[in-house]
Amino acid sequence: MTPVIAKTREELAAVRSGVRGTLALVPTMGALHEGHRSLLRRARREAGTVAVSIFVNPLQFGPGEDLDRYPRTFAADIEACAAEGVDIVFAPTPEIMYPGEPVVTIDPGAMGRIVEGETRPGHFAGMLTVVAKLLNLTRPDVAIFGEKDAQQLAMIRRMVADLDLPVEIIGAPTVREPDGLALSSRNRYLGEDERTTALALSRALRAGADAVADGPDAVRHAARKVLAEAEAAAPPLELDYLVLVDPATFTEVAGDHDGPAVLAVAGLVGATHLIDNVPLEFGKESLR
Ligand code: AMP
Repeated sequence: MTPVIAKTREELAAVRSGVRGTLALVPTMGALHEGHRSLLRRARREAGTVAVSIFVNPLQFGPGEDLDRYPRTFAADIEACAAEGVDIVFAPTPEIMYPGEPVVTIDPGAMGRIVEGETRPGHFAGMLTVVAKLLNLTRPDVAIFGEKDAQQLAMIRRMVADLDLPVEIIGAPTVREPDGLALSSRNRYLGEDERTTALALSRALRAGADAVADGPDAVRHAARKVLAEAEAAAPPLELDYLVLVDPATFTEVAGDHDGPAVLAVAGLVGATHLIDNVPLEFGKESLR
């Protein structure tokens, strides 16, 4: 069945008022792929009604980033939503979401200025502001986000806790191509050679994960070695960061760290910004 498509606040309010039972929201920027679809299936299991937002949020793109060329594939997105049994699609224009430049926005604090936030100043403020707006407009019981954007997920969990937002946040695992490349709407920008270089990100994470029994420093070392090769490749990877961090705070873990951590990497291949990460557990037999 084709989902109900709401493009304005009023249309969304009308369909929201008809929802009985639990509602799950999956926020996206469209160009839906199998990673998004795994979130839709998770949402289907969590709630009686599933809503998806499709909105390329100008507020979370910096100057010189890919806002204008970001892929927009609305007709195919609606087909994917229909195939996954989505009930409601909220697809506003920027003018609907931001009738004027917002004066009051969500401040992500110090956590929004480290790691990905250092590479993309202002990104997390823009992302949290739109997520807060989408949660307020949709009023879901649960909202599903991908672990692929691990710092985004951590920041959203913090926002929900710190501002007492009445929603449960669920993280869903990263979906990958058979060769390891994490699915991303931006992968379609990659030429063949660029894609080969891009594979170093997931390969570095894998190498790091394989060293987990030897501790945090061995993990960092193993991942860095793979990335160094990609930095010397043609076309090269321009590394933004490789970090091994606490999943809740995104601060570096110490060499004697025990417990969960996230090995996260980001870089530029050609003109394409790619990020990836893997969750790890120290101090136990490796789970992976
Ligand atoms: P985006 O459209 O890129 O803003 O992503 C929308 C949601 O899908 C976010 O919660 C992402 O973390 C999630 N997502 C993106 N790529 C993947 C993937 N490969 N596997 C799982 N979730 C993903």
